[in-house]
This record gives sequence, structure tokens and C-alpha cells, in this order.
Amino acid sequence: MRLSRYFLPVLKETPSEAQIVSHRYMLRAGMIKQNAAGIYSWLPLGFKVLRKLENIVHEEQMRAGHVPMLMPTLQPADLWRESGRYDDYGEEMLRITDRQGRDMLYGPTNEEMITDIFRSHVGSYKDLPLTLYHIQWKFRDEMRPRFGVMRGREFFMKDGYNFDLTKEDALHAYNRHLVSYLRTYERMGLQAIPMRADSGPIGGEDTHEFLVLAETGESEVFYDSAVTDLKFGDRTIDYDNHAECAAVMEEFTTKYARTDETHDEALFNDVPEERRRTARGIEVGQIFYFGTKYSEAMGATVQGPDGKVVPVHMGSHGIGVSRLLGAIIEASHDDKGIIWPEGVTPFHCGIVNLKQGDDEADGACEALYNSLTALGLEPLYDDRNERAGGKFATMDLIGLPWRITVGPRGLKNGVVELTSRRTGESEEMAPEQAVERIA
Ligand code: ATP
Ligand code: MG
Ligand code: MG
Ligand code: MG
Repeated sequence: MRLSRYFLPVLKETPSEAQIVSHRYMLRAGMIKQNAAGIYSWLPLGFKVLRKLENIVHEEQMRAGHVPMLMPTLQPADLWRESGRYDDYGEEMLRITDRQGRDMLYGPTNEEMITDIFRSHVGSYKDLPLTLYHIQWKFRDEMRPRFGVMRGREFFMKDGYNFDLTKEDALHAYNRHLVSYLRTYERMGLQAIPMRADSGPIGGEDTHEFLVLAETGESEVFYDSAVTDLKFGDRTIDYDNHAECAAVMEEFTTKYARTDETHDEALFNDVPEERRRTARGIEVGQIFYFGTKYSEAMGATVQGPDGKVVPVHMGSHGIGVSRLLGAIIEASHDDKGIIWPEGVTPFHCGIVNLKQGDDEADGACEALYNSLTALGLEPLYDDRNERAGGKFATMDLIGLPWRITVGPRGLKNGVVELTSRRTGESEEMAPEQAVERIA
């Protein structure tokens, strides 16, 4: 992409309404524009990162054997009357009436709708296990939308639902989700710690939230510092193997890690004192096992191998895809701007031309642009007629992992400058070498 043809409305001033760093940088880097309280447009740079996160979520869900689909944002109220949640959900639900006077709502989550789909088409245990998911916009009329995309009213969420014949199978689905989430967050350059949580209005027996530690997090968390040493890494796992998934679950959830909702002082005091931590965290996902709560209320049953008709065991599993942009920035930035982890960066590198209009500099930039593109990488070439200082500031703000600086003086010696955004270190080298480093 050439910056002269892109739409990157960078702000020089720090917007006064933004209280936390991720919100400030997302506004300043021209990633989002607020249209109403808690409702945002995703400008090209923000949209690009959102799509990258969405792709990672898809890849990891499909790797775990979960099946993608898409449900609508608008739902009929009658489905929610069946589960009893139409009245229970309260003011967070945006209720809408259509021209025929029918009660509708903008979906805050999809348990009812997916259960309706399931009961319409599945009747035998032979079709199980089944996990369906979608990534779709949700609406919750939050009392206090704030911190930009962290607590929006309209937000982008992955929600998946497992259907199983037995509790044991459903708990395997729960473990499988835990594993897939560990992989997902690590690919995004994040550490998200599974913590025992409270199931709240969704109802249920087992639930973990995934929290990214950050001072600006809205949840208070208590944990054994040893949990921060756990990494899933690049191990391979057989998602169909119950014991393998259960072992990962045990490894990642045995040490003390809880949110304030389930915090237990007595248990916490068993953790060696030097490892006891109290901190803040951002909830970036949650997994639930809730048994037959919805399947019984809505008649989602299957015939088992013995011929008996039984309600299926279910769970639901969410990832806050749009909130993750904020969480990643909270976890990875400095005073100049964002520092994108490699796996989610909107462009792989920036090319800064110090002397636009100089034949040699322009030619070298074009050549770099072409060789990077030929390798399947996406460079962002700042080809504007601007001062170097402004170009550097923009690149630092938008946080691409690498910057190649090209100017007539270096080119006389056959070199360009390669700078790492994370370390700030620069090195001069031949253009081909810079390309090699990035690839
Ligand atoms: P919170 O406690 O922050 O209100 P929640 O527990 O109500 O979140 P879930 O129903 O568990 O949310 O939804 C799954 C995920 O969707 C959450 O873990 C979170 O990452 C994300 N999410 C929930 N509400 C919002 C919101 N208002 N804006 C952005 N993301 C959200
Ligand atoms: Mg909530
Ligand atoms: Mg919550
Ligand atoms: Mg939650």
C-alpha cells in the first residue's frame, strides 16, 4: 500500500475523551471513529487488524474441529421467551419492534438461536459431537460504554456452541476450547490467563475467563505468579484425544488464578506469599459448560444409542475479537505509539522515503516495495512529500514491526537503514539484506 493512496487520518492532538492508552492510540492512528456512544466505524487500518484477528480465530477454531457458520444480528424475541431470558436479560438488551409489531432484538449472544437451529436439524447421537461457531457483531446496551473498543455497545465476538451426548463429552469440548484459546491468544502475541470465574446470568457449572494482565483492566484478579510462566508454545495436540486436552486443562488451571467474583482468601493464602499477586485484567474470552439448561428449556434432544431421547449437553465459548485490539495495544506499546506483535500487524513493514522526488531514492523504494510484495509481504510505503520527522512519527505511532529508511546519502554507499520498532535498534545494510531480514 502506498500511503499517498491510503486513508490514514492520523491525529496530532491527543483526543481528550480517551482515558486509556489503547483508546488514545487507536484514535490517533486513525483506526476507529466513534459514531455514537460505544459504536465505532473501523477505518482501514483498524479494519485490517480486526480482520487479522478474525482470521486467527477462524484458523484455530477450525483446527480444533469446530464448524464456522453465520447467524444474523437480529433475532425474534420469541426464542428468548422460550429460554426465559427475554425478561431476565434486562436493559443491556436492545429491543426493537418491526413494522408488523413483532418483538425483535439485536443479539447480545446466540444460545437460543443456535439451540433452535440444532433442534430443527439434529435428532440422533450419531451427529454428535458437534461444535458450531460464528464471528458476528453483537449489541449490548452497556451502562457505561468506555475505553473505546474495550467496552463498546456494538462489538465483534466469536461465539461457539458445543452439543454433546454426555457430560463427559461436553467437558472434553470445554477442554478443547481451552486449548484452542491458548493457541489463539499466543498467536496474537498475548498472554491470556484462564481464571476460574462466576457463570452469572448465563447459568452453568463450569466456567473460565481468559484475562490479559493490564493496569487498565476492569476486573480484579488474584493469582499465583507461577501461572505466568506457563506457555502453550508450538506443541502439537490431538484435539480428539480426551486425555491430552484434559492434561492441558489441568496444567493451565490448577494453580490459583481467580477473578474477584470467585476469589477465596483461604485458598489464596495457601499460595507461597512471594508468589501471591493481586492485579487488574482485561477479559478477552470465556468458556462455559452449562449442561442441559437450554436444551431442556427448548427441547433440543437426540436419540441415544439405547434408543432413549435425551437433552444434549451444551456449552458456549466466546472471544472478544474487537476488544482484543485494545488488549493487545495495552500490552504492547511505548510512549511513541503501538508496537504490533508480528502475528497481527496490519502491514509487515514501513518504507520511509527521505527524499520523495529524488530519482534514486524513489527507484530504490519501488524496488524494495516490489521485492517485499513478491514475497507475499505487505509493506506500507510512505511516498508522501512530507518531512522525515513527520514520517517517522507516523510509523512509530502505527507500530509496524520494521521500518526501512531510504535516502540519497545511504544509497551512495549502497545501504538503507532497517529499524526494529520493538527495540528501536537501527542497522545499515544493502536493500536485499533488509528484505531478507523481514521475510
Ligand atoms: P464483561 O464482563 O467485560 O462485561 P461479559 O462477561 O459480559 O464481558 P461474555 O458474555 O463473556 O462477556 O462475552 C464474551 C466476550 O466478549 C468477553 O469475554 C469479552 O471479551 C467480549 N465482550 C463482552 N462485552 C463486550 C463489550 N461491551 N465490548 C467489547 N467486548 C465485549
Ligand atoms: Mg458484560
Ligand atoms: Mg465478564
Ligand atoms: Mg464473560
